[in-house]
Amino acid sequence: PHLIIKRKESTLKNKNNLFSIFLFVISIIMLVFIAFTQNEIHITSEKMNEIYMGDTYEKLEQLNKTQTVLTLNRYTNLVTAVILLIFSIIIYKKDKINTENLKKATKDNLTGLNNRHYFSYIEKNIDLHKYVIVLCDIDFFKRINDIYTHDAGDEVLKQISKKLEDNLRENNDFIIRWGGEEFLLLLKKDKLQDEKIIDIIERIREDIASTRITLPNKEIVNLTMSFGLNLRPYENKNFEDAINLSDELLYKAKNSGRNRVESSHYDDNTTTVLSISKIRDILESNDVHLNYYPVVSK
Ligand code: GH3
Ligand code: MG
Ligand code: MG
Repeated sequence: PHLIIKRKESTLKNKNNLFSIFLFVISIIMLVFIAFTQNEIHITSEKMNEIYMGDTYEKLEQLNKTQTVLTLNRYTNLVTAVILLIFSIIIYKKDKINTENLKKATKDNLTGLNNRHYFSYIEKNIDLHKYVIVLCDIDFFKRINDIYTHDAGDEVLKQISKKLEDNLRENNDFIIRWGGEEFLLLLKKDKLQDEKIIDIIERIREDIASTRITLPNKEIVNLTMSFGLNLRPYENKNFEDAINLSDELLYKAKNSGRNRVESSHYDDNTTTVLSISKIRDILESNDVHLNYYPVVSK
């Protein structure tokens, strides 16, 4: 969980920070400069002669004038440096508060995961060629609330979130609590074959299904999740469409019995051998049309 938070910090970095540090350094340099230079009056020999020629009153007046200008410069510099220093501190503080607020607003309080709002911040930095998009949802979650209370439901959400997070690679993947008991996963593809990616999601599904969740009343329950996996989000028009496809696949997984992964594009270029039960499923779901020609043998 820590690493996910770290990642968030680096993604939601404040840009004014550098500017305030820059101002701070400038003001410090100015202050050091002021402290180590003295307002001595340097008088050239020509000037000295000039002064010598005049009477004492003029001499004094000239010296006084030079002294006044030097002192005035010094004060102006000092005031400028202090103003810059104060500015840099104010900008830094304000930015820190903004970042803290943003962090709070993008975090889900119950599970500690990033929430949907966070997505709008990372969306534009994500290259859809490099990721697959998974939407997953806890099966029959409402029953937990109904049978064991809402608190038990919350506890389930916490433990399942943790389990999902443990299954992801901290520096590569994103997990977002998308809605109530629904999560969005963005997994870095790393040139993996479709089959390999499906294997990974299948492993997560199995891991969730075999997780024993202890409820507040100490009862232990098992829950399953359904997954919609969009293997090639870059083929969609935009991010929204890519997520919609994951959503459709999730819906399909729910309708095909839950506790399963439905993915796009699998085996596009190869011949698939279907089991009898799979063929029966397909026929029963009315997803296909059968065209047949009678073959008459002589
Ligand atoms: P399905 O397998 O079709 O997904 O069924 P389901 O029961 O999981 O889905 P459904 O959408 O019918 O119910 C989801 C429930 O999740 C309804 C809502 O009250 C509950 N829920 C949403 N957010 C929270 C939360 O933060 N805490 C708790 N305890 N329950 C929540
Ligand atoms: Mg559900
Ligand atoms: Mg749901």
